[in-house]
Amino acid sequence: MKYNVVHRGDEVSFQLMQTFHRLVEPHGLIHDEETPDVVLSIGGDGTMLHAFHQYKDQLETIAFVGIHTGRLGFFADWKPDEVELLADMMIESSRLNDLRVVKYPLVEIQITTAQGIETQLALNEFTLKGVDVTLMAELHINDEPFETFRGDGICISTPPGSTAYNKSLGGAIVHPSLDAIQIAEIASINNRVFRTLGSPILLPKHHHCDIYPRSHQTILLSLDHVIMQRNDIISIRSMVAAGKKVKFARFRPFPFWSRVREAFIGYEPIQERKP
Ligand code: NAD
Repeated sequence: MKYNVVHRGDEVSFQLMQTFHRLVEPHGLIHDEETPDVVLSIGGDGTMLHAFHQYKDQLETIAFVGIHTGRLGFFADWKPDEVELLADMMIESSRLNDLRVVKYPLVEIQITTAQGIETQLALNEFTLKGVDVTLMAELHINDEPFETFRGDGICISTPPGSTAYNKSLGGAIVHPSLDAIQIAEIASINNRVFRTLGSPILLPKHHHCDIYPRSHQTILLSLDHVIMQRNDIISIRSMVAAGKKVKFARFRPFPFWSRVREAFIGYEPIQERKP
């Protein structure tokens, strides 16, 4: 098994990476930055987002796994004191040539400018916001006009990203076995001119949403942790990425709803009700 480590850059993450190398290399795991089978992210969810974007052209062949060095992360779900256990499980999985993974859907966006179409992928979400003024945009679903948006912005998230920014916007948490994207409004203005649905909506795969920002507006576009200012956007189409998923290595079971409970409600097991 070939692996690489992406770390947050702090001392704790760096030391954990060194420990991990020491633990696995005598057992035949090969450190390979170019074409790893497994990418270990050490840091927080943001580190996993960096790792994803670094390797997003090799999603077919790479599985990700994360150790958190701060509080429990959503993608980084191994604790620092479990590094030895994780190393043992990776060694065993390499020996048996048996790597178990879960696959999560992604959002694909196609940005149309006068120069052509750029395609991008996001693991959590992409957002569109106005810079100097509120965002003004027409939103179409499956080529039909749907609403005229005015407000702070629009967030389009994946199921694994539904627990991130989307959750803060009142969006639903979506199980990643559902191939869907969620559109959530960021502080929309509703009056006689601008009227939006007001509720987050889910689009299944094969549906798409086009956003046409009012022309000559400067836009702030975010793709996960990457933020860019653009004034050349004609439209943005978003949809469930077809045929592309992100794989997470599962060396032990950690069901999605347990992860949600531990990340947001607490570590304590829910007490059984007494009859
Ligand atoms: P970061 O790594 O500090 O992440 C910000 C917070 O989001 C952290 O607490 C992290 O644990 C959490 N997070 C990230 N992905 C998550 C997920 N899938 N499920 C649950 N929690 C998750 O900062 P960054 O590197 O800039 O991360 C960018 C991410 O921050 C974006 O993808 C976006 O989802 C999130 N964000 C959230 C808000 C908000 O909630 N108001 C605003 C902006 C960005």
